[in-house]
Amino acid sequence: MKSKFVDLHVHTTFSDSTFTPAEVIKAAQEQGLSALGITDHDSVSSLTVITELGEKEGIEIVPGVELSAEEKGREIHILGYYISLEEDWFRKKLAEFSHAREERAREITRRLNRIGIDLDFAIVKEISGEGAVGRMHIARALVRAGYVKHPQSAFRLYLGEGKPAYVKKFPLTVGEAIEMIKSLKGISSLAHPGLLKDNDLILDIIKSGIDGLEVFHLDHSNTKINNFLELASTHKLLVTGGSDCHGLGKGKQLLGKIKLPYKYLTALKERAKIGTHNAAPILDPSRRN
Ligand code: AMP
Ligand code: ZN
Ligand code: FE
Ligand code: FE
Repeated sequence: MKSKFVDLHVHTTFSDSTFTPAEVIKAAQEQGLSALGITDHDSVSSLTVITELGEKEGIEIVPGVELSAEEKGREIHILGYYISLEEDWFRKKLAEFSHAREERAREITRRLNRIGIDLDFAIVKEISGEGAVGRMHIARALVRAGYVKHPQSAFRLYLGEGKPAYVKKFPLTVGEAIEMIKSLKGISSLAHPGLLKDNDLILDIIKSGIDGLEVFHLDHSNTKINNFLELASTHKLLVTGGSDCHGLGKGKQLLGKIKLPYKYLTALKERAKIGTHNAAPILDPSRRN
């Protein structure tokens, strides 16, 4: 039988990718992927349409989300898979997140204006369209206006953590994000832990009860991947991974650059079936009796 491959971290135009759900499915077919985890930032709006398209085209869709959280002043992304989409309280939360994103994007635009950058919020909204507005859209607006050549430069000069137009997001803690995913009967995974460059912080997040670790990511060196595999094994965490494809938003298409053997998705599904409450306990020496 032909080996099957999956990518568990993919964005759509419903957050800050340039690829519509149909373009995501087409790219997955071209890259020979069998399943995709769709993980838009603080939004699940693409899931109905992309699941239907996937069914038609033979691509399995793992429903997901990438929640923005904060810990020790750092921005942390928590992936949630197989979350229930039925809960009213979750829909309300997502609406709050969407409102907070809009306010934040306006404030970032004001800050850019204050340092002499002539950018109109209407342009940012035109670029974000139906998507949950974020810094990537502002970065693209800055490229369009000729202030930078690439979105990455916009992050390096203005939008990244500690830069002049950086504005923090709403204060959802990592613990709250993990609990939210648990309440929705989903499985949580710490997105791109390598970007945090802080092992103590990663250990703190593991102690908060995260179910998995995104070991495979294009920003992780082989050494990092091996360290994270070991960490996942020590703490009995699921191993996830993906391209974090933003369409052409990061300069080129990343879909297809990370292909996980299907067995990682099988393990994720099994854990989702059992439910996270019956999972192996987190090894926290401070909680041992
Ligand atoms: P936001 O949700 O508005 O905070 O934007 C987060 C998104 O911005 C991430 O998913 C990336 O797509 C992008 N991003 C964050 N930091 C950088 C960076 N340093 N360089 C390029 N893109 C970045
Ligand atoms: Zn993004
Ligand atoms: Fe992320
Ligand atoms: Fe992402």
